[in-house]
Amino acid sequence: MDLGLSDEQEALRRLAAEFVDREIVPHAAAWDRAEEVDRSIVPRLGDLGFLGMTLPEEHGGSGGDHLSYCLVLEELGRGDSAVRGIVSVSLGLVGKSIAAYGTDEQKRDWLPRLTSGDALGCFGLTEPGTGSDAANLTTRAVRDGGDWLLTGTKMFITNGTWADVALVFARTGGPGHRGVTAFLVPTDADGFDARVIHGKLGLRGQATAEIVLDGVRVPDAARLGPEGKGFTVAMSALAKGRMSVAAGCVGIAQGCLDAAVGYARERDQFGKPIASYQLVQELLARIALDVDAARLLTWRVADLIDRGQPFATESSKAKLFASEAAVRAANDALQVFGGYGYIDEYPVGKYLRDARVMTLYEGTSQIQTLLIGRALTGVSAF
Ligand code: FAD
Repeated sequence: MDLGLSDEQEALRRLAAEFVDREIVPHAAAWDRAEEVDRSIVPRLGDLGFLGMTLPEEHGGSGGDHLSYCLVLEELGRGDSAVRGIVSVSLGLVGKSIAAYGTDEQKRDWLPRLTSGDALGCFGLTEPGTGSDAANLTTRAVRDGGDWLLTGTKMFITNGTWADVALVFARTGGPGHRGVTAFLVPTDADGFDARVIHGKLGLRGQATAEIVLDGVRVPDAARLGPEGKGFTVAMSALAKGRMSVAAGCVGIAQGCLDAAVGYARERDQFGKPIASYQLVQELLARIALDVDAARLLTWRVADLIDRGQPFATESSKAKLFASEAAVRAANDALQVFGGYGYIDEYPVGKYLRDARVMTLYEGTSQIQTLLIGRALTGVSAF
C-alpha cells in the first residue's frame, strides 16, 4: 500500500488549503450567525475546478481522481461544512448522476453550468413521511401526453432555494423502489416552490429547504435514466456521496485537532500550559486517532473507486466511522477549550454543531450499520 500523495495531489491539497484559509475560514462564523454563506463563493469554487472534480473535461469537468476529490472536500470541511455540502450535493450527487446516467443533451445542458458554478443542483429524495425509508416516497409523476406532471413535497433539501436544477425522485409505478423514476427539474418551472428551513443546529449557512411540487410539468427528456430505475440512480449517487460526507468529516476532525493542539499549548493553568497535563494530552491523542482512522477509511473508498472495485459497503463504513469520529473529535476539542469552546469566537463549537448532522443525512448511523450488517450476512434488517 502506498499511503502517500503524488506531487499533483499534494499541490491540489495545498491550493485547496490556501483557498480555505483565505476565503472561507475568516467568514465561517459570520456566515453561520447570518444563516447564509456568501453566494459569491460558488463561482470561485468553480474557477478552481472544485465543482468539476472527477468529471470529464469535455463537459467542463476538471478531471482528477477520487482521492484528489477527497483532499479538496477535507479542506472545505475544515473551513466550513456548509460550503463543503454545497459541493458534495451539486457536484457529488447531481453532477455525477448526470454524468453517469444523463443523455448527451442533459450533459450538455447542465454539466458546464454546474461545474463552473453558474448553476447549482439539489437532490430531492427525502420527504416529510419518508427519510430512512426512501424507497417508499410518495411524490408522484404522471404522464400527460409527452410530458410528466410532478406533485409532492421534498424535505430537508440542501441547496434547495439556491439550486437551478433539482434532481427529483418520484413514483411512476407501483410501491417500493422499482416504481421510482428520476427527473431533472428546472427550479424556475411553474408549480415549483422552495422555502428555507430556518433554525438548524448546524450547517446554518447552507440553504436547506422544503420543496413543494404542484403539478410541475417537465418533458420526457427531463427523465434521468430509465423509467423505474430512479432508486438505482439515487443509491449509486449516495454510495459515492457517503465517501464525500466522510471526507468532510475528516476535515472537521482535522480542524478540531489543529485548533485544540494550538490552544492547549497557549493556555496556561496552574502555572503551566494545559498541554502539559496528561488528561489534556489524552483528549488530543483521541482526536488524532479519530482523524487518522477516519482518513484511512475514507481514502480506501477513493482508491477502490479509482481502481473500479466495489466500494458501497466500504463507503458506508467510512461514513459511519468518520461522522461519529467528527462528533467525538469536536466534543473532545471543545473540552480542551473549556468555556472558550462554548462561544463562537473559536471554531470548535461550530464544528460540533456541523458534525452532528453528518450522522443523520445520506443515511443515519443506524442505516449505515444495517447496510454493513446486510453485506456481512446477506440478510436485510430493514
Ligand atoms: P427517520 O428515517 O424518521 O429516522 C428517525 C430515527 O429512526 C433515526 O435515528 C433512524 O436511524 C432511526 N431508524 C429509522 N429506520 C430504522 C431502522 N430500520 N432501523 C433502525 N433505526 C431506524 N435529504 C435529501 O434528499 N436531500 C438533501 O439534500 C438532504 N439534505 C439534508 C440536510 C440536512 C441539514 C438534514 C438535517 C437532512 C437532509 N436530508 C436530505 C435528509 C436526510 O437524509 C434525512 O433526514 C435522513 O435520511 C433521515 O431521515 P429522517 O430525518 O426522516 O429520519
